[in-house]
Amino acid sequence: MGRYHGRSTTVLKPRTTQEVSEIMKWCNKRRIGVVPQGGNTGLVGGSVPVDNEIILSLSNLNKVRSFDPVSGILVAEAGCILQSLTDYVAPHNHIMPIDLGAKGSCQIGGNVATNAGGLRLLRYGSLHGTVLGLEVVLPDGTILDQLTTLRKDNTGYDLKQLFIGAEGTLGVITGVSILTPPAPQASNNVILALPSFDHVLPLYQTVKRQLSEILSAFEFIDRTAYDLAVKHGQGRALSEEEVDGAECFVLVETSGGRREHDEEKLADLLELLITADKPLVNTGVLSQSPAQFSSLWALREGVTEAVSKEGKAYKYDISVPLSSFKDVVDGTREHLRSKGLLHDKAVKYVLGYGHVGDGNLHLNIVADAYLPEIQDALEPYIYEVVALHRGSISAEHGIGAMKTHALPYSKSATSIALMRKIKAVFDPHGIMNPGKVLELM
Ligand SMILES: Cc1cc2nc3c(=O)[nH]c(=O)nc-3n(C[C@H](O)[C@H](O)[C@H](O)COP(=O)(O)OP(=O)(O)OC[C@H]3O[C@@H](n4cnc5c(N)ncnc54)[C@H](O)[C@@H]3O)c2cc1C
Repeated sequence: MGRYHGRSTTVLKPRTTQEVSEIMKWCNKRRIGVVPQGGNTGLVGGSVPVDNEIILSLSNLNKVRSFDPVSGILVAEAGCILQSLTDYVAPHNHIMPIDLGAKGSCQIGGNVATNAGGLRLLRYGSLHGTVLGLEVVLPDGTILDQLTTLRKDNTGYDLKQLFIGAEGTLGVITGVSILTPPAPQASNNVILALPSFDHVLPLYQTVKRQLSEILSAFEFIDRTAYDLAVKHGQGRALSEEEVDGAECFVLVETSGGRREHDEEKLADLLELLITADKPLVNTGVLSQSPAQFSSLWALREGVTEAVSKEGKAYKYDISVPLSSFKDVVDGTREHLRSKGLLHDKAVKYVLGYGHVGDGNLHLNIVADAYLPEIQDALEPYIYEVVALHRGSISAEHGIGAMKTHALPYSKSATSIALMRKIKAVFDPHGIMNPGKVLELM
C-alpha cells in the first residue's frame, strides 16, 4: 500500500522452528521487538515494523510435513505460499479451504495469523474451524507444539484459537495442521448485471434457495469497482449491451459433484431471474470454459489490484448488514462531497465490493495521495457508521497498525482489558509485533 514504513535494519530468515526459538529467546532477553512477516500482503500494516524492530521472515520455513489423502489433513510449515499448497493437494483431489486474491504471495502462517476470510468462507467456514492444530514459538522461545491432526479434541482450553487472528502479537506460528476438503468435481460461475442494488438481497435469497448445496460464492461488485477492474485489464469485460444500465454486479460460483447437474441448475436459475415478472437481473454471463471461468473471477479478484494502480487507497473492510451496503458507500461519497474533497486533486472514487454471503463490505476510497484532510474526513466518520450498525471495523483484514485507535468501536472496554491481560501472559515484555492490534501504552 506504500502507507507504512519502518526503520528496521535487520531481516532474519530462519530455516527451522528451532532457529525461530533461538531468535526469540535472544530478542526476549534483550527486549528487542520482533515483527513476524509472511508474504507481506496484509492490508493493515501488520507485517511492517512501526520502529526499528527485527523482521522475522518465515519464507524459508516452506516445507510440507505431511498430507493424508484419506482424511485430507495437511501439515505444513508456516512459510508455505497458499498457491503452492493448493498445487500440492490438487493431484490428491483436494483443495485448500481458503482462497484469496493474494494467494500467489501470501503464506499459510500469515493467513492463520490474520484469520483471513477470502472467497471460500461461505462454503468452508473460517480458519477457526478448519485449522486443527498449530506449532507456535512463544516470545520467550518456548515451542508450543499443538500440531495435532485430530478432528475432535475437547481437552480444556483450545489455545490454538488465540493465535488465529492474533496478527503475530502473541507468538510466531511455525506450523499449521489444516483440514482440506475434497475438490469439487465441477465448478461453474456466472456474472449477473443488476439494474439496482435493491435487487441484491432478494437475489441472494433466490440464489441460495435455487442452488442450495452447490452454491460456493456470492460476491458483489458495484459499478465503480467493475469499471475500474475493466479499465485496468482485470478479467473479461462484458459487452456494452450486457452492462447497460447496471448499477452493480454479482458473481455466483457453484461447486458440486456433477457438471451437467450443476450447469442445468445454473441455467434454470438464470432463466428464472431473467424471465420473472420483475426481473432481478438485466443479464447474466455464464462461463463456458475454464479460461472464461478464471476471467470472470478475475473481474472480482482484480478489483484490489485495479484500485492500487489507480491511486492511493483508503481501505475499510467492514461488516455491516447487507441491506446497508449501498447506503454506506453512497453516504461516504456524499460525506466527502460535502467536505469539498470529491474532485480530481483529492478523492477520485468511492467504491464498494465484497463477500455478500458473509456480510463483508470492502469500502475503498481512492485518492491521488494520502492527505491528512481526507483521513480526517473519513475517520471517525466511517467507524461511527459501523458502530451505528453494530458492525465490525475489520471483517477480515485485521487491526494491524492501521486500526488500533479504532478498536473500541467494535470491542467493549471489558474485552480490550481482557485482551491486554492475555497479551501480558504470553508476551510480558511486549516484544511481539509491538503497536499492532493493541495500541502501545
Ligand atoms: C490482492 C489482495 C487480495 C486480498 N484478499 C483478501 C481476502 O479476500 N480476504 C482476506 O482476509 N485478506 C485478503 N487480503 C489481505 C492479505 O492477503 C491476508 O491478510 C493474508 O492472510 C496475509 O498473509 P501474509 O502471509 O501476506 O501475511 P503478512 O502480510 O506478511 O502478515 C500479516 C500479519 O500476520 C502476521 N504474521 C504473518 N506470518 C506470521 C506467522 N507465521 N506467525 C505469526 N504472525 C504472522 C504479521 O506480523 C502481520 O501482523 C488480500 C490482499 C491482497 C493484496
